[in-house]
Amino acid sequence: MNTLFPLLPFADDETPLSWAARQAAFHTRDRVTPFLNDIGIPLMELARGEESAVVRLCEKTAHDPAPVLRNTISAIGGRRYQLRGLEFAAEFTTGPITRICTFCLDEDRTGERYPDTAMRHRLIWRLAPVRTCPVHSVALRDLRSGKWDDIAHELQVMTALIDVERRAPDRARDVSPLQAYAMECLNAQPGPVWLDGQNIDQAVRATEMLGALEAFGPKLKASELTVDMWDAAGRAGWPIVSQGAPAIREYLLARIAVSGGKRATPRAAFGMLHAWLTGSRLSKDPGPIRDILRDVIIETIPLRKGHMLLGKLVKHPHLCSVASIAKAEGLDARTLRNVLKVAGLLKPEEVEQGSNRLVVDYTAAHDLIDVVKHAVPVARLSDMLGASRPLIAILIEIGQLHRVQDHRALESKVGKAVDGRGVEAILRFLETSFPTIHEAPEGFVHLSKSAEKSRARVKVILELMFLGHLKQVYRVDGEHGFAAVVVDPDEIKGLLESPPPGLAQDSYFLMD
Ligand SMILES: [Zn+2]
Repeated sequence: MNTLFPLLPFADDETPLSWAARQAAFHTRDRVTPFLNDIGIPLMELARGEESAVVRLCEKTAHDPAPVLRNTISAIGGRRYQLRGLEFAAEFTTGPITRICTFCLDEDRTGERYPDTAMRHRLIWRLAPVRTCPVHSVALRDLRSGKWDDIAHELQVMTALIDVERRAPDRARDVSPLQAYAMECLNAQPGPVWLDGQNIDQAVRATEMLGALEAFGPKLKASELTVDMWDAAGRAGWPIVSQGAPAIREYLLARIAVSGGKRATPRAAFGMLHAWLTGSRLSKDPGPIRDILRDVIIETIPLRKGHMLLGKLVKHPHLCSVASIAKAEGLDARTLRNVLKVAGLLKPEEVEQGSNRLVVDYTAAHDLIDVVKHAVPVARLSDMLGASRPLIAILIEIGQLHRVQDHRALESKVGKAVDGRGVEAILRFLETSFPTIHEAPEGFVHLSKSAEKSRARVKVILELMFLGHLKQVYRVDGEHGFAAVVVDPDEIKGLLESPPPGLAQDSYFLMD
């Protein structure tokens, strides 16, 4: 293959396209597109960072491809790119905009016989968060000619635009800490842990969005920010975001506090940060900041159970209105208000207001609501369990059933009741532990009869049963619950000759 001679070396701060444009100027005094065409490399392939295009360009010049590939931003599909092992979305690059430092370009050209062969488009200028020249400490300039081949970033044909910028006043500023972080990432330098735990574009975007809220307040929209405002946003976000998740959380909580606390809305408190993370067009994963914001909203703002919040269903809201809890739990609002009073979450005067818009800490009321929801009146238990009233009293005594009125203040609201979840558990225990039979075997009797025959207390017999010591237990067809259960009095007697551990320490036997 014919190689181009003499070799114009690649500079380690430039892009492959920049090198190609300089070679075009050097070898042909012409533009980059015909130059690339002549050596069989489509401009688009080089602009997309295709490795084969870069390697071919290196072969044509007998140049080591390693440093050139190291500066290649490669399209990897889905509008995503890769550079030195870092992955980012298209928005992390400047796209068709050609960003420059006029001072750097002046230095390139000074003393050069052919200035066009010396003007380098720096790799870092291709990255959106790089907005300040680290050499000259001035704001970079954005050029756009609006032509199809803007993607070539060919400085050699932009000299008129560059001259306009050279005559415009400079704006001195230091590199922002966020820009410094992004540039250090390119050199594989470690940064703050929370930021390093996500993709570089997620880290930068989270910092800028949070910083925009801090710098400009919640009313501005992202589309209203200028390049300089984004730079300022990055500076404002850095001190918070670089400290990681706890500091971000604390900042977001403070935003809620100044926006009305429980009466705040996420939109009013978090502005464009919230808009960004809720956006229906949010095609890119925003990274861990979304979960931090979500948790803060759940903890501080009333929500409905089942509400869609930042892409996920709210399963366990912390703060809820009385109305939304009543709906979620299927409870009468009046009953619920009373329960909330018992839980100490509503003041008596608030209960009297009868408002369903009052907001309470759902998590604090959750257990009590559960109890009320599952309360079963004692009067219904006989039917449900096939048990006599004395038997039910024993089930409560041995802790198989729990009275709701143990929550004393609830008594007047739900009457004498037990937690119905215990009822289900007992029925399930009987059904799964003991086989059904057609007829009770010889000598087998119902519980009360077995007490009589064995002289043991029913309480002890039930304990032996629930603890699994009593093995010969059956359920007779056609009966329900305890009414179906038959046991062997002889087995009970035998067990109580040397009582197994775990029984209540009172007398095992009936008094004569
Ligand atoms: Zn510069």
